[in-house]
Amino acid sequence: MQTAQYRFAMAGIIHETNTYAEASFGQTTLSAFEQYQGQEIIDAFTGTNHQIGGFIQGAKQHLVDLHPIYLGQATPSGTIAQSAYLEMKAKILNGVKASLPIDAMLLALHGAGVADGFEDIEGDLLASLRSLLGPEIPIAVVYDLHANCTPEMFANADISLPCKLYPHIDFADRAVEAVDLVVLMRQQQIQPVSAVRYLPILPYIVTTDQGFIPAEINAHCQRLLQDYPTIIDCSWFHGFPYADIEAPCPTVICTTNNDCALAEQIAEEIATLIWSQRERFLPQFFTPHDAIQIALEQQDLSKPIVINEYSDNPGGGTPGDGTYLLSAILNAPNRHKRICFGMINDAAVVQQAMKAGVGQQIDIQLGGKLGPMQGAPIVCQAYVKSITDGHFVNCDGAMFAGVHFDLGPMCRLIIAGVDVIVACRAEQVYDEIPFFMHGIDILQYDIVALKGANHFRARYNHLAAKIITANAVGLSSADILSFPRRHLKRAVWPKDAVSDLDEVYP
Ligand SMILES: [Zn+2]
Repeated sequence: MQTAQYRFAMAGIIHETNTYAEASFGQTTLSAFEQYQGQEIIDAFTGTNHQIGGFIQGAKQHLVDLHPIYLGQATPSGTIAQSAYLEMKAKILNGVKASLPIDAMLLALHGAGVADGFEDIEGDLLASLRSLLGPEIPIAVVYDLHANCTPEMFANADISLPCKLYPHIDFADRAVEAVDLVVLMRQQQIQPVSAVRYLPILPYIVTTDQGFIPAEINAHCQRLLQDYPTIIDCSWFHGFPYADIEAPCPTVICTTNNDCALAEQIAEEIATLIWSQRERFLPQFFTPHDAIQIALEQQDLSKPIVINEYSDNPGGGTPGDGTYLLSAILNAPNRHKRICFGMINDAAVVQQAMKAGVGQQIDIQLGGKLGPMQGAPIVCQAYVKSITDGHFVNCDGAMFAGVHFDLGPMCRLIIAGVDVIVACRAEQVYDEIPFFMHGIDILQYDIVALKGANHFRARYNHLAAKIITANAVGLSSADILSFPRRHLKRAVWPKDAVSDLDEVYP
């Protein structure tokens, strides 16, 4: 039997922080995080399309002795309570200390985490790890591409890889790549150096699917990787606009094998390309009213039309109980099509349905309870069609394929002929499973309405005849200029007139 050549420690904190959500539903406490320690991490994430799943796979391929330390992850939400962040950080630092000596540190971080008193939790955590490990131990991080990057994040890691695709279906691949690179570093076959360019752009969240500008930028990066063998990685972080911080902006990173000049040249080239194409990031969405009208007018489609509610996307830190799209559907005249909606977050209504039981009619006030951006509660009668435990696993082909979700008890209600899935916590729809587990075959429906900005596309690009995006008031509204910026420290397009790229962070 072959013995392990290297010992790598592995840990992570994954939270995309919508700082504007704090006013609606408070700070994010430790209880909101799924926490895994030691072997629990391996048991939960082996074989999943998740950063941790990729680290496990990469370590196995290289016969690395992997020491899982701690993972805390939560659905995006408001600013993390300071005590929660400090406790997670302490668990990682203490766990790493107990694992020493190690040959490398692997981290799964989101990159847009904000805690009370820590605007950049990833930079803070990485600085502490670097000071604990010293300059010689490689640190590799796999980030979400919606990270808001800071110099501290890059200065304290040897390898910084964002996922490249949105939907993020390449998390595991990027984590395997990170392990490959760290092994090459340990074997002294590569010496990574990185150059970074921060763009003065307030980021619009746009898919990397074909036909959208991020796909063209990714293709350009891919060509550069092929043209220059010394480039190790050439990527860009899209940034996350729903954070009132110094610089929520896109960032380009190029990593080469010990060629600083080339890294600088390529980072500049990609930054210039993004800057020249910035107008193409501006969204063109519909109001909920117009979205449902367009969907109702479609004829003779073999697959359902999907309407996604962009502005209340739990994947961007919203409470998920917004009622703008569901109200527009229920109020639409001549609503003669089969429609289902998933998922609205309302624990009180789920409790009411459980108390009444399947087959009963209940009078409800659905949604609109978690803050002023969520619309008015929908006052209606509902038929309780089914109730489940809210446990499911994302299907193959979906983002986070293989990852387990627990949304608390869930129910399917029928409201004025529309099937509505209700959950006990906020979560976006990734695939058809939340419908299927409640007895709904979405292919038998004309219109599938769901909460989410984009991750649903990984599955629904195949399931939908057409996707119509609805945008309204909300904590993840596409109208990013409507969010107040008290902490922003730089001029950013399109908020400000910015004429060139020659600015330094922030
Ligand atoms: Zn993301």
